[in-house]
Parts: sequence; C-alpha cells; structure tokens
Amino acid sequence: MKVLRDSYDRHFTYLRLSLTEKCNFKCTYCLPNGYQSNSCASDLDLHEIKNLLLAFKKLGFTKLRLTGGEPTLRKDIIEIVELAKNLGFATIALTTNGFRLLNLLEPLQRAGLMMLWLKLRTSTETETKSRSQKLYQKAKMSESKDDCFTFHSETSCNLNI
Ligand code: SF4
Repeated sequence: MKVLRDSYDRHFTYLRLSLTEKCNFKCTYCLPNGYQSNSCASDLDLHEIKNLLLAFKKLGFTKLRLTGGEPTLRKDIIEIVELAKNLGFATIALTTNGFRLLNLLEPLQRAGLMMLWLKLRTSTETETKSRSQKLYQKAKMSESKDDCFTFHSETSCNLNI
C-alpha cells in the first residue's frame, strides 16, 4: 500500500477535513462579524467527500477529524460520519462549538462518531465562561465514572463518546 511520508520518514495517518467555512458563531479571533459569504465556492458535496476519504484511506489514513467552520451546520453531517465509518476509519472525531449537539449527539454517535473536540469560546467573555463552567461541572460529575473529558484549556476540551 502506498503511504504518505515526510522527509523524516514519518507516516501520516491523521486527516483533518473542513466540511464548510460557514459558522453560526462570532468568535472574536475568528469571525468577529459573523460568517460573510464572499465567494461563489460551495462546500464539497457528499460524493466529493467520499472520493477524498477513499483516496486518503488508500494512502493509509486511519484517523479523521471533521472540522469547519461549524461542521454540524451541514444537513448531511450524519451521512458524512456514517460514510467515514463504512470506509473503515478507526477514529472519527468532530470539532464543534456544541450549539447543535443537543439534537445531534445521539444520531452522531449511532452513525459512528467517537470523539468530540469542543470549542467553548463564544462572542462574549461572560458567555464563554458560563458555557465552560457548565461543561466543566458535567465533566467533573462524569469523571468519577468514566474519564471521558480532557480539558486542554478553559475553552477547549475533548470528549470520548
Ligand atoms: S465557533 Fe469556531 S469556526 Fe465558528 S467563529 Fe468560533 S472559532 Fe470560528
């Protein structure tokens, strides 16, 4: 099998794929004025994503992280995760601001999602603090049973689901 290696002979296995540049948040360091469409370029469709994932799988990639923008704004996000699972990716993760997770978490898990990277920073510091604290409390409660949350900073954590 052909694999991707760099000049130090390191084999790449981890793909980060941006599904959209759209986002519903206005983080000051990223989209302070909110998302503004300034090009006629559209997101990759499901067929194009399948072709890309197949190509990277053939090159030995086993881990996938879906990112954006905000990837959960895509109507076909469940199908994309399902597709990655059916193609045999060993780890499927999603970076998200968490806004749509309440409705999407269960279907995403059923489709094959294994890990979430939550970005908790929002437009105002107060809001960010409040979201972080809520999640942190939840994490603390679950930590005794299951070490599923890892906090990287006050505003970023990953969660094995
Ligand atoms: S949630 Fe992420 S993509 Fe959206 S504005 Fe904030 S940093 Fe940017």
